[in-house]
Amino acid sequence: MAHEAVIGLECHIQLATRSKMFCECPAEFGASPNSNVCPVCLGLPGALPVVNRAAIDAALQLGLVLGCTIREASVFARKNYFYPDMPKNYQITQYDRPLCEGGALPVRLCETARSFPLIRIHVEEDTGKSFHPERTGDRPVSRVDFNRAGVPLLELVTEPAFRQPEECGAFLAGLRRLARWLKISDGDMEKGHLRCDANVSLRPPGSASLGTKTEIKNLNSIKGVEKGLTAEIARQAAVLDAGGRIEQATLLYDADHDKLAVMRSKEYAHDYRYFPEPDLPQLTVDAAWVEEVRGRLPEPPWTREDRYVDHLGLPAYDAAILCETRERSDYFEAVVGAGTDAKRASNWVMTEVLRHVNARGLSEREAALRLPAKSLAVLIGATESGRITSASAKEVLEEVFEKGGDPEAVIAARGLVARSSPEELLPLVREVLAENPGPVAQFRGGKQATLGFLVGQVMKKSGGRAAPQVVQELLRAELGALR
Ligand SMILES: [Zn+2]
Repeated sequence: MAHEAVIGLECHIQLATRSKMFCECPAEFGASPNSNVCPVCLGLPGALPVVNRAAIDAALQLGLVLGCTIREASVFARKNYFYPDMPKNYQITQYDRPLCEGGALPVRLCETARSFPLIRIHVEEDTGKSFHPERTGDRPVSRVDFNRAGVPLLELVTEPAFRQPEECGAFLAGLRRLARWLKISDGDMEKGHLRCDANVSLRPPGSASLGTKTEIKNLNSIKGVEKGLTAEIARQAAVLDAGGRIEQATLLYDADHDKLAVMRSKEYAHDYRYFPEPDLPQLTVDAAWVEEVRGRLPEPPWTREDRYVDHLGLPAYDAAILCETRERSDYFEAVVGAGTDAKRASNWVMTEVLRHVNARGLSEREAALRLPAKSLAVLIGATESGRITSASAKEVLEEVFEKGGDPEAVIAARGLVARSSPEELLPLVREVLAENPGPVAQFRGGKQATLGFLVGQVMKKSGGRAAPQVVQELLRAELGALR
């Protein structure tokens, strides 16, 4: 029997604020266990939370760029449950009056522009982290680290708008790019900066009703989201095809073994006894704050991609690669701004610059420091005008990415200005013609492509310094004269 999957996502974005959501403890990753704690994030009696303004600012940036409605007076709520890594026995979150509602994330999927609608984005705090079992001698022990307790999170809930696991993967990749673009999160899924739960149900294709859904927790990579959902869709289909019923449940996906395990039967909202957080006033975000944030939002990545295609005439493929990170697309724009043709700048950034970034393990920020956009524009200009050859340009890039330095200085120091005087090049051309009677005969026989081989031979003799345009002219002239 055919089935249609209906999938919704809950994504948690850990914010890159300096301090935690409700106290002054550092929110950094990697400090020694239980060193970034205080009475507030340890939930000690009498300690009172204070809202971190930077976290709300980050939520506003994300909400506005996604076209959400911002609630002027939103409310924090207590979500009550016991968990050993949550010292208060409740989590401060938002429930019936979240900060942001509605909106959508535009995503390009197989060259098609899609837009996936959101239900809400709200602000909350993270829990600590437990490790178990570890061993002390022959005794198994559990440990808990509260450094993460109270770190700010945004929870973004989508409409059940996905039908394919691949759509979810593309959405998550788009969300990660956006979080980094806005610089509100590092978005590193391996470090848990971006986490995702998915709920999924099946129904007959075209049906308007929804089947019973299950929830898959802690999908911690884009591949994991796709594989976990694929496994759960297959499991549900097999149950339904055998005449069975789907039980509501929360599942854990084990990416290493591609297996799903039931964690607990599904809980309901009333299990959490939500009520408004009595220690915090309502959160007021006035129009002036919203407009101030809107005024400093960067151009979103999807708008840039469209602009590169529509106004700069780049292929969609180039636009997508250039807009993968804000650093890269800013760099590309600076190269174009320095007078380089857009397609030419795109080729150089996508091939030469990214090759060095990857091969040397540089961040794109470091790469831009070693080779500023203006210098790349100068180098491209020198290559285009024939002042240096493309082989020399690559030599310059090697040195600049290796040791730093100004490309012009490298060109001068290494004597890379192309040799273009016919008097200097003619002897090389004649040598090559004398040494290659076979290809010369082939060219005479009408095989034009042989000329490229002969140009290459002269280039080789010149150590890559001969201007290829001049070499070609000289070769043609000599071959004509020999005829
Ligand atoms: Zn604290």
